[in-house]
Amino acid sequence: MVRQKCFLCKVEAGKAGSEGICFHRLPANEKQREKWMSLLELTGLEPQSHKVVRICSKNFLQQDFTTDSSGRTWLKSGAVPKPI
Ligand SMILES: [Zn+2]
Repeated sequence: MVRQKCFLCKVEAGKAGSEGICFHRLPANEKQREKWMSLLELTGLEPQSHKVVRICSKNFLQQDFTTDSSGRTWLKSGAVPKPI
């Protein structure tokens, strides 16, 4: 199993510093994904490599998240990661 690791701050799931953090894939929406990729300077990567990129919740603002009725946390559409 590939460990989840934040592309920006290199935090790894299950390691120190990852408590309370969740990892997010790049958006499924193509327009939105392109926005992330240019922001993260990923545009030169292999076409499939965006699928393994994860960004952790530390790279988003509190207001970028929304919680649904079952308590799951989602990124709002339009939210973009911020380098820290
Ligand atoms: Zn991160």
